[in-house]
Amino acid sequence: MSSERQPTFAIIGAGMSGLLAAVKLREAGYEFSVFEKADRVGGTWRENTYPGIACDVPSHLYSYSFELNPDWNYLASPGEEIQEYFEGVSKRYDLERSIRFGEPVVRCDWQGDRWEVEGGSGYVERFDWVIAATGILHHPKRADIKGLDDFAGDLFHSAQWDHSVPLDGRRIGVIGNGSSGVQITGTLAPRAGQYTLFQRTAQWVVPVEQVEYDEAQRSEFRKNPAALQGLHDELDVAFHQGFANQVLDGNSDIFEGMRTVCNDHLDNHVVDPVLREKLRPDYTPACKRLVVSHNFYDSIQVPQAELVTESIERIEAGGVRTTDGKLHEFDVIVLATGFHVDAFVRPMSIRGLDDVMLDDVWKDRPSAYMSVGVPGFPNFFMLNGPNSPVGNFSLIRTAEMQFAYLMKLVDHVEDNARVYAVASPEAAHRFEEERVEAAKDTVWATGCRSWYLDDRGIPFLWPFPFARFTEEMEKPRFEDYSIE
Ligand code: NAP
Repeated sequence: MSSERQPTFAIIGAGMSGLLAAVKLREAGYEFSVFEKADRVGGTWRENTYPGIACDVPSHLYSYSFELNPDWNYLASPGEEIQEYFEGVSKRYDLERSIRFGEPVVRCDWQGDRWEVEGGSGYVERFDWVIAATGILHHPKRADIKGLDDFAGDLFHSAQWDHSVPLDGRRIGVIGNGSSGVQITGTLAPRAGQYTLFQRTAQWVVPVEQVEYDEAQRSEFRKNPAALQGLHDELDVAFHQGFANQVLDGNSDIFEGMRTVCNDHLDNHVVDPVLREKLRPDYTPACKRLVVSHNFYDSIQVPQAELVTESIERIEAGGVRTTDGKLHEFDVIVLATGFHVDAFVRPMSIRGLDDVMLDDVWKDRPSAYMSVGVPGFPNFFMLNGPNSPVGNFSLIRTAEMQFAYLMKLVDHVEDNARVYAVASPEAAHRFEEERVEAAKDTVWATGCRSWYLDDRGIPFLWPFPFARFTEEMEKPRFEDYSIE
């Protein structure tokens, strides 16, 4: 790119990561456009509106470092409050004028010196850099269960909640007990006429009590930004230097401690010994993403609630048929069955150097050099993309660090009057080999089924310590790039 003009940026997605990029680019005085398929900002918090949705990361940590929020009402804020936070940030930084709503990106073509980006409406614009902030848990996965279309009642995915469907007093079946299914159960079971949770694998449930901040505390945070910053920093250190690093060693003693805490929670809360044993997992805690809940065990024990562990045979007009031949009849079925996590950045046609297509490069599985870039795709970077530390670090902190890394590359390209930077295939290969080896030693690879695992059963996450992520993001290895 010529050094006479400022580089321009396309941001794909106006969720947490995309808004972050927009704020930072606006502050730096760069021109950018955000392409957003929906009609509002918020990403995952716009789309997931199921009863009980909340963040399991403390709100004062789940905030941009430059936009700490004295007004969080809860330790673990409900989804609605988080959505309001992101809408507030978007307004304060006047981002909406740069967001093209209702404009999903359908195509990005590298044209030798720039990207041509096309939206679903046919709108086309050219940019020097593309930042894909398209999210991980983005494409709802309808379970691979026979007869899903045969159900005569209402059936929807947890991330596509149909709020027109009445719930109180009705017969509700929920399939899946990940973080979504557990949060739904905590809130919905007490409201239902009859409630059934279909559990395929038991979950370790960490007891974290909800805390409500009162007006006096919020006012103190407003008056005393240093106290707010102190709380954020304290949580950050505890999170990143504690849990985040400890899960990297699958043989760490920490898991015995977690097992004791979770078992005590189970033993002290679940009265019926049969139910208790059904709820007790047999794998290492934190192998799957830990589920955090203060009300799941209480809710699954209300008189109208039932936990079913028989396998599902099929869905029929009347409800769910399990392999023991029993038909569980429902008015509403919820699929809390997770997301297609391997669908990073898709569906989109991304054509890089020498007409290479991202879909072809990723035909086996998505992968990214240092979690941000892909060889063959110059000036194309991802926030919270493949191999990011999404299992144990805060996604907001991760996106902030990845964005700062990208800006260092942009500056490097500009300072050297070059056009683009692209990770070299050798560097990407070397990184991936090292990453896969390290991933095999993590707790995520100790023998459970989870969305952290790729098609080979290898965790697709960042398997190194947080300090390594910090170092890599602070000092890009320019020698690993072709800078042309
Ligand atoms: P998930 O963790 O992938 O859980 C999917 C659930 O569906 C599992 O219980 C799975 O059983 C079950 N399942 C899938 N296919 C099935 C089938 N064919 N038959 C029966 N059961 C089936 O999805 P999620 O609960 O939506 O959570 C995904 C991630 O979103 C979380 O791990 C977390 O990172 C994030 N999340 C965060 C929060 C928060 O508070 N911040 C809240 C919700 C979600 P198996 O376990 O046997 O595979």
